[in-house]
Amino acid sequence: MEHQVQRVRDAFLSGRSRPLRFRLQQLEALRRMLQEREKDIVAAIGADLRKSEFNAYIQEFLTLLGEIDLVLEKLPEWVKATPAKKNMLIMLDEAYIQPEPLGVVLIIGAWNYPLVLLIQPLIGAIAAGNAVIMKPSEVSENTAKILAKLLPQYLDQDLYVVVNGGVEETTELLKQQFDHILYTGNTMVGKIIMEAAAKHLTPVTLELGGKSPCYVDRDCDLDVACRRIAWGKYMNCGQTCVAPDYILCESSLQNQIVQKVKETVKEFYGENIKESPDYERIINLRHFKRILSLLEGQKIAFGGETDEATRYVAPTVLIDVDPESKVMQEEIFGPILPIVSVKNAEEAIRFINEREKPLAFYVFSHNDKVQVGWELIMENTVLILFLINVPVY
Ligand code: NAD
Repeated sequence: MEHQVQRVRDAFLSGRSRPLRFRLQQLEALRRMLQEREKDIVAAIGADLRKSEFNAYIQEFLTLLGEIDLVLEKLPEWVKATPAKKNMLIMLDEAYIQPEPLGVVLIIGAWNYPLVLLIQPLIGAIAAGNAVIMKPSEVSENTAKILAKLLPQYLDQDLYVVVNGGVEETTELLKQQFDHILYTGNTMVGKIIMEAAAKHLTPVTLELGGKSPCYVDRDCDLDVACRRIAWGKYMNCGQTCVAPDYILCESSLQNQIVQKVKETVKEFYGENIKESPDYERIINLRHFKRILSLLEGQKIAFGGETDEATRYVAPTVLIDVDPESKVMQEEIFGPILPIVSVKNAEEAIRFINEREKPLAFYVFSHNDKVQVGWELIMENTVLILFLINVPVY
């Protein structure tokens, strides 16, 4: 590992990754790889998650192609030095801010969107003139393999290197010194990454998980709310970092929500969900069993069917869920949607604030006061999304 990292560092020190023209060429080559080898990559993602071609394309390729186009357009501007405001101390100096590459960047990807979670940080790292070591998730092994095969065919082989492996290899990698680490994955491993980085004082970007709540207000368009929640929850079989994790609502809304989510699921995936090309599978047996254990002792309003051989878990809604139960203690990361009753918006706000910060949360209300209330009171929260006027795709 030490040798491999040194080789990438030597390539960085050669200065090759710095010129704007080179960065643009590499990004164009990356775009070419996505376009020319789309079928191979889609097949690998399909083998990992049973994702359809259409879903793989819109969820992973479109994001990346859009990002590359944006960077190609903006990079000539971004690399320029910009004048800095002077103060007394530097009054007689020329002061400007010059963006500089950091050096060798380590990217550690997760399996749930195995292409985008590795390549999106790569685009930024190349654009900024860095050398990169990529460690795809071993859990999505087919995508990891195809990326290790294809990337060297399109990108500079000394500057951008894929290292495949699991915990052992990643632990070994983390002993090496990097100039930045970008990690996507669960919080527990996030702590391991940060600890390893701290030994070298390496800055990190951690893209972690959390339980993202939905508050469904009495005063909202319930059809629209349920449609959007079902879309976000069951996409990729619930294995999305910002998927709605659970619903908070007044108990009188519970049955209506169940009915409407059920109708939407039928509309999205048909009568026989197992046969739907649009419904994915749980990534592996460990996660399948973990999700199954979350159903124990719960009241299943609909769904709940599972099949271990194909790692199928049906879109499921749980009602009257006890906030102390297991399903409410950890990020679900599967197609299980618990409904927890609260008396009103204030109680929902308290409920969320008493827990770990969510990654996102979703408020469905026509009531301006409820919306503003969330904005004012939820100051602890990372991100507020009002999904009220957003079109459904
Ligand atoms: P994972 O199992 O693929 O692990 C992520 C990476 O960590 C892998 O490359 C793996 O090899 C490495 N790893 C695992 N154990 C390790 C260890 N002990 N030491 C060093 N490296 C180790 O993926 P996961 O953690 O199951 O990913 C799902 C989580 O990621 C969810 O919590 C999800 O919310 C979160 N996520 C966040 C975002 C975001 O943008 N914030 C995006 C996607 C996923």
